[in-house]
Amino acid sequence: MPIYRRAIRVALGTLLAIAVTVVAAPQAQAAPNFKAPFPCGQSWTYSHHSQEVRLALDFVKNGGGTNGAPTLATAAGTAYRHNEPGGAGLYIRIEHGGGWKTYHFHLSAYSVANGQAVSQGQQIGTTGSTGNSSGPHQHYEQLYNGGGQVIHINGQSLAPYPGSYGQRSITSDNGCGGGGGKAFMTWGSGVNVRQDAYLNSPVVTTLPGPTQVWVLCQKEGDTVNVEGYSNKWWAKLRDQGGFMTNIYIADPASFLPGVPVC
Ligand SMILES: [Zn+2]
Repeated sequence: MPIYRRAIRVALGTLLAIAVTVVAAPQAQAAPNFKAPFPCGQSWTYSHHSQEVRLALDFVKNGGGTNGAPTLATAAGTAYRHNEPGGAGLYIRIEHGGGWKTYHFHLSAYSVANGQAVSQGQQIGTTGSTGNSSGPHQHYEQLYNGGGQVIHINGQSLAPYPGSYGQRSITSDNGCGGGGGKAFMTWGSGVNVRQDAYLNSPVVTTLPGPTQVWVLCQKEGDTVNVEGYSNKWWAKLRDQGGFMTNIYIADPASFLPGVPVC
């Protein structure tokens, strides 16, 4: 009998140990599965400022093209615009819930409205060099309850942080698929996205400049004549929740390849 009792006590002790482990784990488990802040397939190298206190990383694109590259939401959330001319410049904060937020500094332009819900992989801005910045780069931070965390991409820690570019790189799988739609870049500025594929449909949002968009399907609507082009096809955009003329999709075909009819 005493042997059984001891066995039970040991078993209870083990259960308690497991319970403590389970209770301690949620902080890490609550982190969103952050992806890279730049488009699918692109490789960027990163480094860390020695004076910097929030465990931020700076990223530049391998092979050039950092300036003007899309800056993407690394997880879904609500995006807020900020401007700090002497420091972060134009920047976006995304609240992901559960105490998690991310920062994207030094943008040359915003791609979302203040307080807009964004999905993972959605373009939130254009990479630039505003504020206190020595050149175009993406400054990116992950914070939990206000404190900077070691940056994780797809659950993998990027620590130990290199002190200069060119030592370590990551290739993005952000927006490669899964959210639906086919990725395209747009061109032009002030491009209206409308509720439907007609010129008299209400404008739901405006693309300030080149933007990465996901086209769910395309639809015949009003013929648009602009910039020397004429096209009756409109693209239904996943993240903007409306239609834009195919003219401003950066693809030479008037009917987008690989995109179904709505
Ligand atoms: Zn930085």
